[in-house]
Amino acid sequence: MAELDLTNRPDVQVNDGDLSTRNLSGLTKTELRALFADTFGLDAKKAKMRANQIWRWIYQHGATDFEAMTDIAKDMRAGLAEKFVIARPEVTERLVSTDGTRKYLIRLGPGIEVECVYIPDVGRVGALCVSSQVGCTLNCTFCHTGTQKLVRNLTSAEIVNQVIAVKDDLEEWPSGGEDRLLSNIVFMGMGEPLYNLDNVAAAIDVISDGDGISLSRRRITVSTSGVVPQMHDLGEETSAMLAISLHATNNDLRDELVPINRKYPIAELLDACRNYPGASNARRITFEYVMLKDINDSDAEARELVRLLKGIPAKINLIPFNPWPGAPYECSSWERIEAFAEIVNRAGYASPIRTPRGRDIFAACGQLKSESVKKRASDVRREAAG
Ligand code: SAH
Ligand code: SF4
Repeated sequence: MAELDLTNRPDVQVNDGDLSTRNLSGLTKTELRALFADTFGLDAKKAKMRANQIWRWIYQHGATDFEAMTDIAKDMRAGLAEKFVIARPEVTERLVSTDGTRKYLIRLGPGIEVECVYIPDVGRVGALCVSSQVGCTLNCTFCHTGTQKLVRNLTSAEIVNQVIAVKDDLEEWPSGGEDRLLSNIVFMGMGEPLYNLDNVAAAIDVISDGDGISLSRRRITVSTSGVVPQMHDLGEETSAMLAISLHATNNDLRDELVPINRKYPIAELLDACRNYPGASNARRITFEYVMLKDINDSDAEARELVRLLKGIPAKINLIPFNPWPGAPYECSSWERIEAFAEIVNRAGYASPIRTPRGRDIFAACGQLKSESVKKRASDVRREAAG
């Protein structure tokens, strides 16, 4: 079911690209302060106060209209409305899976679209998987995103606006309510977050701010294919939870599946995990392991995985491979995945098998790819049905 959905917020202005220099939505506190100081000639103290005030309206209340900001003087509200907008990114497609997963296609500019996916019942109540880049420069052989050519880093505002657009759709304003649907954020959409660390860190600052969207840093997970030199900074700068796309237990195979391994091999990667700031039994590192039939799914590899992770506070997430057209792999059989999980489990590691979600709308891991270069999910489903 493809539908254009902005009906929840008919009042909302859509950011068509021309608005980007005037749009306050998604900006950091520092950006807002600088903007107000410049535009209205405010001193540092006044600019800070104004930024804090507007911050709460944007991120706590989801306001899109300056007129709603009743604690701001009328002439100031008019001045703000003259210079700025609070505009949402355009949601060009919204698909809802039979399992409740929602996939959004968000347009950032002409021909540039990213996807983000809301998955209910993951994390505390529901997780949002966000993208950090358009496409990915790495070419993991099992990943669909890696086959996409167009690549650019998203700005921190573009990352935050994915969260805002989904909060609109879930009607999660004001933020921080009791019965909210969105509790976790995972950077597992398109792109390698550690190749865009500054913007990812700035976005996490916005999303986790207690006066705004207020999602705890412990519920924000950043997944990396293993950009070792950036891992420590990620921990220091964001206090986010870390997930590692491991997928193989020896360098020969990992070189092939996750080619960045040639630069940062397994031993270096695991050392960086041992030194990840804040890792502890209460804050374990997640190791993602995609189950590829006859490639990485033997009992011996399960035992080797256990041996490798010794001494690291870890949990292991087994991900059934999500196929895509032309993919050179198959998913391991269910019995194989369970046998693998059993070995890891007996060694004392939690090893949940990730249930594939949103397969019917092409929203599962590694299936994200912009519409500009792939068939529309609705066509894929139509073909599958016919
Ligand atoms: N670039 C980052 C984050 C995005 S990928 C990373 O690689 O970690 C998010 C997760 O989906 C990674 O663990 C990735 O290995 C996994 N993934 C990619 N393609 C997949 C596929 N076809 N099936 C299952 N998992 C996949
Ligand atoms: Fe990029 Fe991650 Fe896909 Fe590898 S698995 S190609 S790093 S998005």
